[in-house]
Amino acid sequence: TEIKVWKEFDKSRLYMADLESGLHFLLRVELATHKALEGAELKTFKDFVTISAKVGTSGSTYLKYISFFQISGIFLTKKVQWVGCQGSRPELRGYSCSLWKLFHTLTVQAALRPKALQNTGDCSGHSEPARKAIVLQVMRRYIQHFFGCKACAQHFEEMAKESMDSVKSLDKAVLWLWEKHNVVNNRLAGDLTEDPKFPKVQWPTPDICPACHEEIKGLHSWNEDQVLQFLKSHYSSENILYKYTE
Ligand code: FAD
Repeated sequence: TEIKVWKEFDKSRLYMADLESGLHFLLRVELATHKALEGAELKTFKDFVTISAKVGTSGSTYLKYISFFQISGIFLTKKVQWVGCQGSRPELRGYSCSLWKLFHTLTVQAALRPKALQNTGDCSGHSEPARKAIVLQVMRRYIQHFFGCKACAQHFEEMAKESMDSVKSLDKAVLWLWEKHNVVNNRLAGDLTEDPKFPKVQWPTPDICPACHEEIKGLHSWNEDQVLQFLKSHYSSENILYKYTE
C-alpha cells in the first residue's frame, strides 16, 4: 500500500495541485461513469468546458489540459494529489473540497475579468443579467447532472431554486456562492463527514480576514464589501501556488 506523506501547506493560499486534481477527478472519475453524454448532460459538460477555458487562469496546466481534453477527447492519467484539500483520512475532503475551490475560483475569475465571458459560445444565448450568473448556472447544472453525492446535489438544488435567479452581477455571484458554502458548512458542522483536523467554520475566519468581521449591537455580522475583496484576492491567480505540481 502507498504511504501518503502529509504535505505542509499554507491555508491562506490556493494550490494549483488541488484545482488540477479536482479537474482530473471530475473528468476521469465523475464523468467517466456516464458512458455517453447526450442532450442536457452533453450541454452541461460543453458549457463547463467553455466557462473554464474562458475564465480559467491563463497559462496554467489545468487550462492546457482542459483544452487538450476538448480537442482530443482523451481522458487524463495524471495522478490525483491533494494539498490544501488533504484529509486526515483518505475518505475525507479531497474531491468535494476541490470542487468548491474550483467553482469559487471560476466565479472570482469571471468577476475579475468580465470581458472573458462575452461571446461565450453556447452561453451567449442567455440574456445579459443571466450571463452575470452563468458560472453559477453551469455549476448548478454540473452538480445536478454529475456530482456523485446525490444528497449534496439535492441540498444545493434547493438553495439554487430559492435565490440563484436573483443574482444579477458578477460580484453578487461571488458572494452568493460564498454565502451558500457557509450555509453548507453550518449544516455539516459536527457531522460524521467532518474532518476533525478541518472543522467546519464560517469562513473566512477572523485570523485570515479580520476586516470581514464586524459586531453590530453585540451581534456578529459580515462586512460584505470586505468579504468580496478578500474572496477576489484569495481566489485570484496571484494567490495560486504551483509548489506541488509536476
Ligand atoms: P469544504 O467545505 O469542502 O471547503 C473547501 C475549502 O474552501 C475550505 O478549506 C476553505 O479554504 C474554503 N472555504 C470554506 N468555506 C468557504 C466559503 N464560505 N466561501 C469560500 N471558500 C470557502 N457534504 C455533505 O455531507 N452533505 C451535503 O449536503 C453536502 N453538500 C455539498 C454541496 C456542494 C455543492 C459541494 C461542492 C459539496 C457538498 N458537500 C456536502 C461536501 C462538503 O461541503 C465538503 O466539501 C466536504 O465535507 C469536505 O470539507 P472540507 O473540510 O474540505 O471543506
